[in-house]
Amino acid sequence: MKILHKLICASALINMMMSMSALAEDLELNLRSRSKEDASADPTTKQVNWKPEKTALIICDMWDDHWCKSASRRVAEMAPVLNETVKAARARGVFIIHAPSSVVDFHKTTPQRKLAQAAKFAKAPIELSTALRWGTTWCWTDPKHEGVLPIDDSDMGCSCKGEKCEIREAWSRQIKLIEMVEGDALTDSGQETYNLLAERGIDNVILCGVHLNMCVLGRPFGIRQMTKLGKNVTLMRDMTDTMYNPERPPGVDHFTGTDLVIGHVESYWCPSFTSADITGKKAFKFKGDLRKNP
Ligand SMILES: [Zn+2]
Repeated sequence: MKILHKLICASALINMMMSMSALAEDLELNLRSRSKEDASADPTTKQVNWKPEKTALIICDMWDDHWCKSASRRVAEMAPVLNETVKAARARGVFIIHAPSSVVDFHKTTPQRKLAQAAKFAKAPIELSTALRWGTTWCWTDPKHEGVLPIDDSDMGCSCKGEKCEIREAWSRQIKLIEMVEGDALTDSGQETYNLLAERGIDNVILCGVHLNMCVLGRPFGIRQMTKLGKNVTLMRDMTDTMYNPERPPGVDHFTGTDLVIGHVESYWCPSFTSADITGKKAFKFKGDLRKNP
């Protein structure tokens, strides 16, 4: 009996040690980037190991509804997969920031919102953007840093066939399919985001959500601002979408349009990786994406 008891204790100890080491295991991300000088060159991929506790994952504008019916449908299709990815990242120790711009007030009584508001003020090394767009500060396309966007989104990018959707504020909260748990934060403010990261000594930032050509790049917690702050930024490229109307230049299908913007980000701003690096499953693809070898 004694031997059996010892064996059981030893195996419990090993299990505990294994789960502790799994918790502390680095994220192994395959980061893809492109040459700024030669857009036609093949992308390069480099594996990096990031400490989960030094990494934040920011979920941009995954709203409950959108003025464009197609965009709204794609968000609802992507949300459950994103939620699974967020859960896996959180379980590894990654800090999760929900960033549903302009509807944070809907969430004002949640512990996630309170956590963001309670973070101690930290002075950023550069002045945060003070330009305004759509109710929050904004980082506009920066000609010193990037070329023109490869898609024309000047019509706001309704991708619906036939009659175009009317532009309006259709959103009221973050989509329910993305779970929020204790320890996550919720904000759409650049300063609060910076405070939260500073408090935790976080240098690595993963961006995901919608829409890449607009909010994921331009919001005050988005790719442009985080890169300018000197963070190690990366885009989770299968967990995003664009506002792009295929009837506009360059006249490619919607998903090729998204890929072109991902390429733009990889050339000028930050590398990208897929959720497969976090979940161990296949990268996500929209049902409507019928391309054979995207
Ligand atoms: Zn539409």
